[in-house]
Amino acid sequence: MEYISTRGGFPSSGKALSFADVFLSGLARDGGLYVPKSLPQWSARDIASLAGHPYAECATRIMAPFVAPDICEADLADIVDKAYSAFPHAEVAPLRHLGDNEWLLELFHGPTLAFKDVALQLVGHLFEHLLNARGQRTTVLGATSGDTGSAAIDALKGLECAEVFMLHPKGRVTEVQRRQMTTIDAANVHNIAVEGTFDDCQAMVKAAFNDLAFRDETGLSAINSINWARVMAQTVYYFTSAVALGAPQREVTYAVPTGNFGDGYAGYVARGMGLPIDRLIIATNANDIVARALGGGEYRVGAIHHTISPSMDIQVSSNFERLLFDLYDRDGKEITRLMTELQTAGGFAINAEPLARARVIFAGCSVSEDETRACMANMFQEHGLVIDPHTAIAVHAARGLGNKSGHPMVVLSTAHPAKFPDVVREVTGETPSLPGHLADLFEREERFDVLPNDVAALKAYIRARAER
Ligand SMILES: *Cc1c(COP(=O)(O)O)cnc(C)c1O
Repeated sequence: MEYISTRGGFPSSGKALSFADVFLSGLARDGGLYVPKSLPQWSARDIASLAGHPYAECATRIMAPFVAPDICEADLADIVDKAYSAFPHAEVAPLRHLGDNEWLLELFHGPTLAFKDVALQLVGHLFEHLLNARGQRTTVLGATSGDTGSAAIDALKGLECAEVFMLHPKGRVTEVQRRQMTTIDAANVHNIAVEGTFDDCQAMVKAAFNDLAFRDETGLSAINSINWARVMAQTVYYFTSAVALGAPQREVTYAVPTGNFGDGYAGYVARGMGLPIDRLIIATNANDIVARALGGGEYRVGAIHHTISPSMDIQVSSNFERLLFDLYDRDGKEITRLMTELQTAGGFAINAEPLARARVIFAGCSVSEDETRACMANMFQEHGLVIDPHTAIAVHAARGLGNKSGHPMVVLSTAHPAKFPDVVREVTGETPSLPGHLADLFEREERFDVLPNDVAALKAYIRARAER
């Protein structure tokens, strides 16, 4: 598979980039995001042939074309097996029937209890495989609004080939989320609490990457959802769940709790590969830039709101650029212009034609705090089911937009309720208990440093620690 940048600047040498190149760098050198030159196409017959096969086997088949020729199918199968054996649930991403035509796709059975484990456990093993093959080390730099950090740290802890720097907004992640990051006792893991918001953290990461000299000097790699491997890994559960519910004969609708738009974009990629997804409902909290863009056609940065669904407290949804690239007929110059306008003017209008194309597939819905709480309470009363606030946002959006098509409605359940115990207790009166492997989380010792919202300080911090 060959990869290109959404800004059209790379590859400038005329030499195509392979999976290993884009995986190890993350962000394109022209500031854009990498996407495959074209998507592998799955016929109805190919899709039907996934039925009844274990998750890891489906994952290998779905991802093999994306990683070829850098990783052969046998090596990929090995990597995938290692990644998903970290999931105590044999199905990895099981479906739970709620009633009528409504299902939850439970993506939180991994080691850190959020859907990000599905991609990041794989990413950890991909790093090890590719870096060892090249005899290289890397510096992984990421920003987290909560769940990415713990999932990335769990996936990379103790690796010889990677030094990990993870930024989180100080005081703005839950205690469970923070402790899941800061109690990992591994010399290659560096937690940084930034005096700022998640968007500040993300901007610092982008600025570090855009300093090409610094990037080369430290061998930076990205692990945020801008890394193509994460999108690729997330397409898999759309396939397995759709097939379990009758695809390719039956179309399926998905409701996706959305922050950085990685998960929603993965659904779009699965659809582009031929999976019969009739609609993707993009559910946001009050940080609703994507919902607003799909509604009014304006992609405009607003003020950050701190909500009970902190993993979605994001104003700039990085992966939206990848969708825009397709909506604008893969015109890198046009995307560069829009992204420059985003930087200088805080937003841009999406042209009528690209917007109409997006609306064929996507529907956006912003969900308030009261609606989220009411949905959590309702699920508890109606089904005796305790769900986390991120999942509740998507359940509310799915029910609010209605399921007129008669297709199965699959709501992505992105976190275990025990990650957000305060709001769960407040709404349901139940205290969700952490699974056994995290039972002593509150007794473990924490390790992190505090940095100001300042790129120079971050670079100095990394320089001092990148070479052990
Ligand atoms: C990260 C996260 C999301 C948002 O996913 P994106 O891919 O960033 O849109 C939703 N729910 C939970 C629990 C998360 O951790």
